[in-house]
Amino acid sequence: MNLNRTCQDNCGVAALCQQGNAVPNLCRSLFLLQHRGQCSVGLAVLQKDGRIDGGVAPGLVKANGPLFRGKESDSAIGHVSLKEPQPFFGHSKIGSISLAFSGRLMNTAELRQQAMQNGRVFTTKDDVEILAQLVSQENDPVEGLKKMASQVRGAFSLVLLTQDGVFAARDPFGFKPLVIGRGINGCAVASESPAITEIGLEIVRDIRPGEIILLNKQGFATVGQVPGQRAAFCSFEWAYTARYDSVIEGIAVEQARKNMGASLAKGDNIEADLVAPIPMSGIGHALGYHKASHVAYDEVFLYNRYSDRSYTPLNQEQRDSIAAEKLSLVIGAIQGRRIVICDDSIVRGTQMRKQILRLREAGAKEIHIRVACPPLLAPCHYGISTRSFNELIARQHSLEEIRKMLGADTVKYNSLDDFVAAIGLPADRLCLACFTGKYPL
Ligand code: SF4
Ligand code: MG
Repeated sequence: MNLNRTCQDNCGVAALCQQGNAVPNLCRSLFLLQHRGQCSVGLAVLQKDGRIDGGVAPGLVKANGPLFRGKESDSAIGHVSLKEPQPFFGHSKIGSISLAFSGRLMNTAELRQQAMQNGRVFTTKDDVEILAQLVSQENDPVEGLKKMASQVRGAFSLVLLTQDGVFAARDPFGFKPLVIGRGINGCAVASESPAITEIGLEIVRDIRPGEIILLNKQGFATVGQVPGQRAAFCSFEWAYTARYDSVIEGIAVEQARKNMGASLAKGDNIEADLVAPIPMSGIGHALGYHKASHVAYDEVFLYNRYSDRSYTPLNQEQRDSIAAEKLSLVIGAIQGRRIVICDDSIVRGTQMRKQILRLREAGAKEIHIRVACPPLLAPCHYGISTRSFNELIARQHSLEEIRKMLGADTVKYNSLDDFVAAIGLPADRLCLACFTGKYPL
């Protein structure tokens, strides 16, 4: 797939209440969520005097040591971003607050206008400020969160730091993941489970769609529930966005990816010498294909682990050039071989085409492309994806045209039914809008 898309998909949030200083562990959690956003990082901590301290900085978590240094608190929230620097810091009826979210709001222009008509003043153009303003309309954070949820259309998995404690909430569809964990020393929420387990806490469960949680050092409690029509968990998380070691809604991403690869192998009657992934996101899919087909697994691309260590936000051109230099070829594994290549998805097909050409030049005999997701037919409304209808190759072209454009011998995608079965949740609890164009909201 389009290798530069990592900078356009999501955001990550984390919150931690623990005995002693929560900041070092929060920093570690954010680092584990780095794949969800590389443009900026931020944190907010509750000080002993009730004030909120913190800040945001451009670039990666590891490049921003000074942001975390010297901060000390038992309650902290943080964010890794692709777009808006977060968290937002504000003053409200409930005192100082700080808020960060993952997702995307769809009716921001309208909400902003309404709030301004009610005399509210905005200090930024950021959507996160709209959420913060809506949450602060009431004297109580829970009532504020409920009221906000009734007014906002869109996806949000948020963390809110107040003098009353740390709150976490998920929109009524539960588009973006948000998981909660606990240990003897504290309690945490994060966009993905490794951000919790790797700091020594145990996963308790996912926050339910529409649920509002209050957490402290001892544990957590449900303090509100916003009614919803249905769950619509982002299915793309299991195929691409989430870490390979994440567990979402009780389903391991690793298993879902292997299942997707296995169903691609099902009924595949090509003769191949090896199956290989486009790293990193194609690895699980290729392993699943290998296990189900008994075609040998091998690496034909080597991923340069230093390629995206950039310290500043990138423009599209810079990202494209990084995508090109990310993968080098393992020539000996390629020459004269019939190769099955697995990847998560194809957006525009430009990166895939380039990689296929390189494999040909390196002497590959045959190249068979196997794609874990069904064809991408519609843009996402609920994340910060920049893909538009016109960019999507599968919208404009037939499978045979795609095969020719990519320069592959064969191309096969998973069917929607096989893709859903590989995840293992009922279709009516998933968002599948990328593939169906049917938006839950
Ligand atoms: Fe996920 Fe696609 Fe739905 Fe967006 S449209 S939430 S990427 S499944
Ligand atoms: Mg990929």
